[in-house]
Amino acid sequence: MSTTPDSAVRAYIADHREAFLDDLAEWLRIPSVSADPERAGEVRRSAEWLAAKLTGTGFPAVEIWETDSDGLPAVFAEWPSGDPSAPTVLVYGHHDVQPAAREDGWHTDPFEPYTTDGKLYARGAADDKGQVFFHTLGVRAHLAATGRTAPAVNLKLLIEGEEESGSPNFPALIKTHADRLTCDAVIVSDTGMWSRDTPTVCTGMRGLTDCQIDLYGPDQDIHSGSFGGAVPNPATEAARLAAALHDADRRVAIPGFYDGVIELTDRERELLAELPFDEAEWLRTAHSHATLGEAGSTTLERIWARPTAEVNGIGGGYQGPGGKTVIPAAAQLKLSFRLVAGQDAAAVQQSVRDWVGDRLPSGIRHKITFWGATRPCLTPLDHPALQSVVRAMGRAFGQKIRFTREGGSGPAADLQDVLGVPVLFLGISVPSDGWHAPNEKVELDLLMKGVETAAHLWGDLAETWSTT
Ligand SMILES: [Zn+2]
Repeated sequence: MSTTPDSAVRAYIADHREAFLDDLAEWLRIPSVSADPERAGEVRRSAEWLAAKLTGTGFPAVEIWETDSDGLPAVFAEWPSGDPSAPTVLVYGHHDVQPAAREDGWHTDPFEPYTTDGKLYARGAADDKGQVFFHTLGVRAHLAATGRTAPAVNLKLLIEGEEESGSPNFPALIKTHADRLTCDAVIVSDTGMWSRDTPTVCTGMRGLTDCQIDLYGPDQDIHSGSFGGAVPNPATEAARLAAALHDADRRVAIPGFYDGVIELTDRERELLAELPFDEAEWLRTAHSHATLGEAGSTTLERIWARPTAEVNGIGGGYQGPGGKTVIPAAAQLKLSFRLVAGQDAAAVQQSVRDWVGDRLPSGIRHKITFWGATRPCLTPLDHPALQSVVRAMGRAFGQKIRFTREGGSGPAADLQDVLGVPVLFLGISVPSDGWHAPNEKVELDLLMKGVETAAHLWGDLAETWSTT
């Protein structure tokens, strides 16, 4: 199965490690904070820096792509394999970073990379510059070890500049350039692993849709003595809706909500159960005092593989000091729904609308506003590209690679939707890397394992995955 002798890959990486880390440090010095309008120029400088570096790496086509609404630029690069039957892979990452300032609790300047004890500290070290940059040395090592002059797959990179600001222009960007982005699979290089000791591949993310429900009762706040008990109360109805969201088993009680849900297979449940999960430690990170959720599912299953309904906010009526005996004119409820593969966000939204409409008494008018929808994504365990990622990581780490999922939602789903291909996740970051937090770091040995994984991946994919 192995096309790239592992020792040749390791030797090449060892020879080029220092220059690679110097280059990464140079990139990390550019404070490409997308949320700060004053640093828009730095985000652009970061894009230009990366574009030049990708040209230097050997990518024959490198372009800076502007985004709508005067947004921040993305970088696109393409390196054709030359082999007409080779699969095409698109690597996604981002070159913008979260804000960071010394006074937030950083021990050193967040934009002056600092290495100690095998860890490189800087804003963006793990999220996401380090994890984008390992692909540059990875592809060079792949070429050096195989004697090729072009990668074994058609390799494309799309490195966004607005991810940390919610990717406002990303769906439009990928629709505009859809013809350039055609591929057989997307590899998202912006995630992490379970832990240092348990390298993992993430196989899916949940989707999301959320809404506000405004409830209106009497035309103004009215006296609860004169009228109470004889007219509907919108605050009471908001609470009744919230209370009716789940049944006694904590399953979502909205009819149709679970339609289409792809259930975990027994094998997937076994694999999740193999992860060394410490529930007490997890509860500490959750700042919660107990677990609670859908009957019949474990905590990891609940956060990764089950859809949910949550009340994000509930309000209405008098909230000031002391009492005020009114029936309020209005109340609001904010709900969010995490979705899993097989669920259709539009169908879920309709189910919510029908459910709310059916439950409210006459005399309560309502309005539902959905803020948006992100589709879930899931790659089957037996997908050939996923198998390649697992083998490449296994060779780099010398360990069994396990599987995780991600409970959150992200721009990966846009890629899946627009390009219509599976999305895979390759990350070497660990939970202690402090994404978005002070003293963000990347562990250098894991970063070099990322390089090595990338070096093995393209040959394995080309050899084992026939897309024609
Ligand atoms: Zn990121």
